[in-house]
Formats: sequence, structure tokens, C-alpha cells
Amino acid sequence: TAKIIDGKELAASIRANIATEIASLNASHGSFAPHLVVVQVGAREDSSVYVRQKQRAAKEAGMKFTHKDLPADVSQSELLSIVQELNYDYTVHGVIVQLPLPDHLDEKTVTEAVDVRKDVDGFGSGNIGQLAKRDHEPLFEPCTPKGIIALLKHARTEISGKNAVVVGRSNIVGMPVSHLLQAEDATVTVCHSKTKNLAELVSTADILIAAAGKPELIKGDWLKPGCVVIDVGTNAVEDSSKKSGIRWVGDVEFATASQVAGAITPVPGGVGPMTVAMLLWNTLDSAKRFLKGWRRDVEYLKLKLVEPV
Ligand code: NAD
Repeated sequence: TAKIIDGKELAASIRANIATEIASLNASHGSFAPHLVVVQVGAREDSSVYVRQKQRAAKEAGMKFTHKDLPADVSQSELLSIVQELNYDYTVHGVIVQLPLPDHLDEKTVTEAVDVRKDVDGFGSGNIGQLAKRDHEPLFEPCTPKGIIALLKHARTEISGKNAVVVGRSNIVGMPVSHLLQAEDATVTVCHSKTKNLAELVSTADILIAAAGKPELIKGDWLKPGCVVIDVGTNAVEDSSKKSGIRWVGDVEFATASQVAGAITPVPGGVGPMTVAMLLWNTLDSAKRFLKGWRRDVEYLKLKLVEPV
């Protein structure tokens, strides 16, 4: 049976390393701490849960965390001016806008408004564009895809020259992870909702990344024996035997897949904890760059902002 790739354990050790580095930055730079700001619009329960997870992890690592909690009816221009203020605020190193946004707001415009140097989610075109170009390095790689590569490396998976199949092509998981896998020299196939022969394509995978958001879509008998499965899917299914009435399952049928795969991530406890750890990592990277000097640029921009035209 498959080896279990423990994302919870790996994420905890990465977070501990981040905490150590922050403590030493703090000591050497006179109570300096990386500062992450999460902008949330409205009070969707799932978003609030994710924001609290980020807050807890940031605090534990010794980061400063600000939760900008905006009313559900905030206007697009108000939201954009708040993002702009955070862009200009040189005490802030990472800005994320918690998605999804209410319908009256344009997610694309708002995501693009975050300064590329503070875009620790890595969702803006500046960072995604650099990710898609060969031999270019984005300032930030999106957190879930970056966590997936870290899990593969932790499991000592050979990526170069291997067939990687990605199920899903979203902007936050499927598309960016396909670029990261190509950068690691995998041969990448991207499948999506219009793909005709999914089972057949999945059977060619040495590495399978499942990110379709469809509970237990992928069955064990589709898999190539010995393959490595990273299951990103996080789907709530009804389960009356649980107190909460729900149970979390991945996009891969774990019971059958773990009989065939060589290694597999569990849900929960696989990709999820890695995403948060990578967000802290990106914020720390940003703070280190800031300490190195782009503080000057940001101050310059701020000056320009208050200058009368
Ligand atoms: P999404 O809905 O934006 O995209 C899903 C993608 O899967 C689409 O490209 C679609 O074409 C494809 N797809 C849908 N049904 C398919 C099918 N039957 N066959 C093949 N492809 C199909 O979702 P997303 O935001 O990319 O998230 C995917 C899953 O990953 C969700 O379950 C989500 O909850 C989970 N997720 C987890 C984390 C984490 O940190 N653990 C982070 C992001 C997303």
C-alpha cells in the first residue's frame, strides 16, 4: 500500500523554520516583523475559517497580522482605495484579498490592484506571467502549487522527465502547478471538465495532481501502479455518523487509490496545511526583500501619492 505523504508534519516543520528566521530578523533589525494583511469582504463562513487559520499560523510564527474586515456592501472603488493604501504602506509586506468576493465586485480588477511586490498569493498577472515564462522567476509562486512541489520533493519524487497529469486548470491551482511542474522538467498533461478520456490520461501519470473539486472522481483502478498522487480536492460530503454531519474527501478515492499508488497525500492533512505554510514563506521572502532595499521605491511611490498634481 501507498506511503502517506504527511503535509501536516512537513508544514509544521516549515513553519518552525520560518519562526526561527523571523526571531533572528527581529533580533537583528530592532523588533522588525513581517506584516501580512488579509482583506476580507463580507462574512462567508468558509472564508472566515481560512482567514482564522492564516491568522493563527502567522501569529505563531511571530508575524504581524492584520485582518481588514470590510462590510459585504463595500463598493469597488472603496475596496480599490484600501488596497492602494496597503500598497503604499511600507510597514506592510504582504497583501491578500480573500476570494471569492461578493458578486458586485470584480475579482479580476481587485486581484490585479495588489502591488506585484506584495502579491504573496501570487495571483496577479505580474507574478503569473513570470511563472509562465521559461527561465523567469516570479517574486511569488502561488501558495497551493508551491506547497505541492514541496510535498513532491519531500517525498523524494523524481519529477524530471516524468509524466505529470494535472486534473483541473483553475488560476489558483491547476494552471500554476502545471507551469511549476514544467519548470521541474516534467511532461505535463492538463485535464479539465471538457476532457474526454480522463481515466485513460490519468493512467499515464507518474505524478497525478488532482484539483477538480469533485469528490472521489478518480478511482484507484485508473492509476498507474506506483504513481505519486497529490490530492488537492477538499470536498465536504454528508456523513450522518459525524457530529458535524459532514466529512472531508479528496478528488481521489483514497481507499482504492492507496492500494495502487506508491505514495499519496491524505485529505485532510495533505495539501491544505502546506498552503498556509507557503503563504508565510512568501510573506517572509517579501519582508526580506523589503529589508534589502525596495523600501526606497515604496517610500518614493508614497511621496508621489501625496504630492499635489
Ligand atoms: P475550480 O472549481 O476553480 O476549478 C476546478 C477545475 O477542475 C476546473 O478547471 C474544471 O475544468 C476542472 N474539472 C471540474 N470537473 C472536472 C471533471 N469531472 N473532470 C476533469 N476536470 C474537471 O477549483 P479550484 O479552486 O482549482 O479547487 C479545486 C479543488 O481544490 C477544490 O476541491 C478546492 O476546495 C481545493 N483546493 C484546496 C486548497 C488547499 O489548500 N487545500 C487550495 C485551493 C483549492
